[in-house]
Amino acid sequence: MHIRTGDTVLVRIGNDKGTRGKVLKIDREAGKLVVENVNRVMKHVRRSQKNPQGGRLSKEMPLPLANVMLVCPTCGKASRTGARLTNEGAKERYCKKCRAGIGQIAPPRTKSAGTGK
Ligand SMILES: [Zn+2]
Repeated sequence: MHIRTGDTVLVRIGNDKGTRGKVLKIDREAGKLVVENVNRVMKHVRRSQKNPQGGRLSKEMPLPLANVMLVCPTCGKASRTGARLTNEGAKERYCKKCRAGIGQIAPPRTKSAGTGK
């Protein structure tokens, strides 16, 4: 899974199934991410010193990374991504549908010996 902040993703599971949104935050340890306008909940806030008005607040809640798919900026489809090496030796993500690159993951290696995979 190579989703990063700022990517557009498609929600596949849950109340917001079929919704596209921008990734606002990723918590890799928890395996969750926050997507703009997805999984919004209304929070009722009591009057307090911090919030003297009280009232309702809508907030996006994190959802599992597994519930979303990356949307390819080139073909606009929710696609599987792969990782490949560019001619310069950098690692990049690419769309398995149209094979367009979707941003670099790792800078080119200067050392000739790779880790071998
Ligand atoms: Zn594509």
